[in-house]
Amino acid sequence: MKNEDARIEESLDPHDWEALRDLSHRIVDDAIDYVRDVRDRPVWQPMPDKALQRFREPLPDGPKAIETVYQTLAEDMLPYPMGNIHPRFWMWYMGSGNFTGALGDFLAAILGSNLGGGNHAAALIDQQVVDWFRQIVGFPDGASGTLVSGGSMANIIGLTVARNAAAGSDVREAGIAALNGHLRYYCSDQVHSCHQTAMELLGLGNQALRRIPTGPDCRLDVVALRSAIAEDRAAGFKPACVIATAGTVNTGAIDDLLRIASLCRRENLWFHIDGCIGALLAIAPQNQHLVEGIELADSLALDPHKWLHAPFDVGCALVRDANSHRGTFALNPEYLETAERGIANAPWLFDYGVQTSRGFRALKVWMSLQEHGVGKFGRLIDQNVMQAAYLCDLVEGNPCLELWPGRAINIVCYRYNPGRLTSDALKQINTEIMLRMQEDGSAAVSDTTVHGEHFLRVAINNHRTVSDDLEFLVAETVRMGDAIVGQGGTG
Ligand SMILES: *Cc1c(COP(=O)(O)O)cnc(C)c1O
Repeated sequence: MKNEDARIEESLDPHDWEALRDLSHRIVDDAIDYVRDVRDRPVWQPMPDKALQRFREPLPDGPKAIETVYQTLAEDMLPYPMGNIHPRFWMWYMGSGNFTGALGDFLAAILGSNLGGGNHAAALIDQQVVDWFRQIVGFPDGASGTLVSGGSMANIIGLTVARNAAAGSDVREAGIAALNGHLRYYCSDQVHSCHQTAMELLGLGNQALRRIPTGPDCRLDVVALRSAIAEDRAAGFKPACVIATAGTVNTGAIDDLLRIASLCRRENLWFHIDGCIGALLAIAPQNQHLVEGIELADSLALDPHKWLHAPFDVGCALVRDANSHRGTFALNPEYLETAERGIANAPWLFDYGVQTSRGFRALKVWMSLQEHGVGKFGRLIDQNVMQAAYLCDLVEGNPCLELWPGRAINIVCYRYNPGRLTSDALKQINTEIMLRMQEDGSAAVSDTTVHGEHFLRVAINNHRTVSDDLEFLVAETVRMGDAIVGQGGTG
């Protein structure tokens, strides 16, 4: 630019590449130590005021050396993670990460490619990873899929395709007002809350999601499901879709996929599986029989950031009929035409979901699957299931503890129960045990209510957990429970 007010043009690149190299090497060194030494730190710790002050700092208007920024982060923020990469974190349901996955996220950001589509290597890796998941669950060649933010979005994708397939009218053009009849979806009362969100977003409403009561094993009662469908048909509703859960979030229960599949076939209903927890059992030699029938679904959600331990976030939606999938989302805006040659000479990946720009989530999965092989991940899944069975045995063998009886895969619900206490008192004591463990950083379990009774809940979805950790958990539960009862309450 040679005109008079030419300025020095700026960019975000550093002036001193060598200084950046030094800092980056230090960050990688620190990161390796951080992961290597995770067991020596508390699972979680509350943040002191000094750290909390940091979050009230105003929008920075001037520059700061990146070394200073990293220093602040390292001192005041990195010591206070959620804790889920720790070997004694078993709350809710999430993976425990892996270093290769972190490198994948780093390299994905360095490359910077947009996975909305296009003719480039990242797009092919994205499609390859989706195809690997297709093979894992046994969907036919030609089935489609997409990587999304997580299981919630993957379920939304599946339920949307189901709605459009059942609509009987062009719901994309005319909206739900033009549906001929009220669609009904079915699931068990143990279904994950994201399905309600999906129904609300789809405009069908929460009432259109009929929860079928579960028996003591927390699995969907297929006989009750059949009557509900018949009852709805008689009342003029339009049954559209059954959502089976392969691994419920409360207890890990796996619905009877084969029976539900054949019911769907007979009733001409869309068969969706929420496999966020259990779909990956398909790669676990000792337990894959538990998800027999998974290959029969019309659509399926799975969650690599759970049992594949990919760093957050990555989920995957798979749809048996690629035409229904594309037909639900694809559009052809004039500013996004494909081309005969060049960068736009490829199918758009955004045609399979609701994001236009997409991150390169596939890389972290691709790299760790290449590094370890799928067999290793399968063995780790079996290992977690075995550890859960071991924990059940420990709990059963201890007279002060009560096991929720419906053993399934890798989720264990139990409580401190020395006898002679009401349900309310037990809830109070067990909640206190859970909070004390979190606050002293020794272990992290969550709690839940199963069929009206409160339990501590241990979801062993962790490749760093060893049996000793579970022995410690049991001993701590009893020690803390005794102390609380000895103190005469939860004060
Ligand atoms: C985790 C989970 C979800 C939600 O997945 P996110 O990845 O958290 O969005 C849905 N269903 C089940 C059964 C889950 O365990």
